Amino acid sequence: MKEDVILYRVWLVFLFSFVLLHAETVVKITSDSINLDDFKINYFIDHSQNMTIEDVQKETFEEGKNRLSLGINAHVTWVKIILQNDTESAKKLYIHDTYAYHASCTSFYAFDSNKTLLEHISYEPRKNINTDLMDGAIASFSVVLKPYEEKTVYVKSEFLAYQIIELKIFDNQHAKENLIHEYMIIIILTTILLTLAGYYSILYVASRHEEYIYYTLYLVSSGIFIAYSYGMLSHYFHVYGQLSLYLNATILIAPIFLVQFVKTIFNTKENHPLENHLLNSIIVIFGGMYLYSFIYYYKAMEWASFIYIYLLVVMMFVGISLYKKSVLLIEYFLLAHSFYIVASIVALMFYNAIIPFTYVTSHAVAIGTLIEAFLLAFLVSYRIRMLEEENYKKDKMILTDIMTALYNKSYFEEALNSKLTIQRREKNILALMVIDIDYFKQYNDTYGHIAGDEALRSVATVLKETLSNPDDMAFRIGGEEFALICTNMNKKSVLSCAQKLQKNIENLHLEHKSSDVSNYLTVSIGIHFASTYILEDAKKVYAHADEALYSAKKEGRNKVIVYGDIHRIF
Ligand code: GH3
Ligand code: MG
Ligand code: MG
Repeated sequence: MKEDVILYRVWLVFLFSFVLLHAETVVKITSDSINLDDFKINYFIDHSQNMTIEDVQKETFEEGKNRLSLGINAHVTWVKIILQNDTESAKKLYIHDTYAYHASCTSFYAFDSNKTLLEHISYEPRKNINTDLMDGAIASFSVVLKPYEEKTVYVKSEFLAYQIIELKIFDNQHAKENLIHEYMIIIILTTILLTLAGYYSILYVASRHEEYIYYTLYLVSSGIFIAYSYGMLSHYFHVYGQLSLYLNATILIAPIFLVQFVKTIFNTKENHPLENHLLNSIIVIFGGMYLYSFIYYYKAMEWASFIYIYLLVVMMFVGISLYKKSVLLIEYFLLAHSFYIVASIVALMFYNAIIPFTYVTSHAVAIGTLIEAFLLAFLVSYRIRMLEEENYKKDKMILTDIMTALYNKSYFEEALNSKLTIQRREKNILALMVIDIDYFKQYNDTYGHIAGDEALRSVATVLKETLSNPDDMAFRIGGEEFALICTNMNKKSVLSCAQKLQKNIENLHLEHKSSDVSNYLTVSIGIHFASTYILEDAKKVYAHADEALYSAKKEGRNKVIVYGDIHRIF
């Protein structure tokens, strides 16, 4: 007898827990403000893909969340929402399916508690059926519940590739707000990508560097993909049907431009043939798959996951291989690509129902693309700076004398002419000093050519150090002959500068036994102040300064002489 009671109780507990496990989740409405973003539903996957609502009603549903990502094998999914009004007032509810634009068909069925069908509507955005009744990208279904009334809504979603459902329940006010805000972040993301694209297309027009146009096209194709696949184009521009399919297929074009960009920026064609072949293979595969998508769209989209994995692996391999070769800026590319890989893996896991459906996992492609785009933009900008610096160095090399690092003879005339133009316009004083080492031939003969070179460098250093104005320029215009262009100084300061120069060179105390004027190496200086009222070109100005220098030599060397002022010897 006792044993019977125990057995009976065990059976009761078993039955009770069985009922509990299979008790269907009810969404209870308990207040006037209804904004349900996170709730439980019941779902059933129809693997046969041809069950009717009557068949489905007999099936056992599983419990799930209002956001479902069920992967590629759940083409037809039924969601059952039991709505129960626990308040004393009637309620009008709006059920929003935010991925309806992506589905081939979304149907709603409403039943009362006696299982009588009250209403049924189907939207087929792929065939443009009832899309005028959709709220943009969203399929919306309204249900009125009397006080304490219960109704059951079935939502059937048919997807041809990945099954994703997101259902939300609102009152009238919240429904309106959701229609405005749902795709707002995607607008912002797309706008950022397209703005970047605009900027780089302008750079391309200005510079004709190929990498900018590839980068622009990459950003545009990624932007279109994100704008469509996250619902923005359907929601705000009512893009449905066949067109939407081809917009979705831009996911197969974006990598082609990305690869072209990488090929150009690292010049793989010329410098890295193996990597270049691998990158070309990506272009061929994605290009082929894009063409195939026009013939058999859904198969192509199913293959997209696999070829994406190929893309990620090959790009990573190329990145690491170029990194090992110490290719410049490759670390920025590797960093950008790492973000892209993480985002792509998260996205693939989300679409294949391996990880939960959250805002971040469902928007991983958009987030990853944006981070990658910014890092690549940084890489491009950094490269512009490097090229500028390289050009600047090259320009400087062309203008510089290698031995002394002063400006060279070939730049002298051009620089003097441009300084003269400014001087004439601004009516300033411009002085040209020509400086020549005294008895330098003997210096070489006595101390050797190497000591001679050393002396030339020391004199050049003194010249640079004596320049007080940043606009002044020093040149080596001959073997042991130098020139200084001084502006923005009055005549007196120019003269005292020349004397200082002369003294500083002698004070180097470079012994010169064979000099007739000093025990140390000295210079003679000729100066000419360019006229502010008679037009003098560079040749003329130099000729006058040289004439003054000649006079200084004639007067015994180690002297400063101003042209036209021959008798003022310092
Ligand atoms: P003056 O006082 O009249 O200027 O006499 P000078 O000997 O300095 O003039 P000259 O023009 O006769 O000789 C210039 C010498 O400068 C000839 C050459 O040996 C020397 N020289 C020219 N370029 C270089 C150079 O790059 N290195 C060295 N070490 N010597 C040079
Ligand atoms: Mg000389
Ligand atoms: Mg000379």
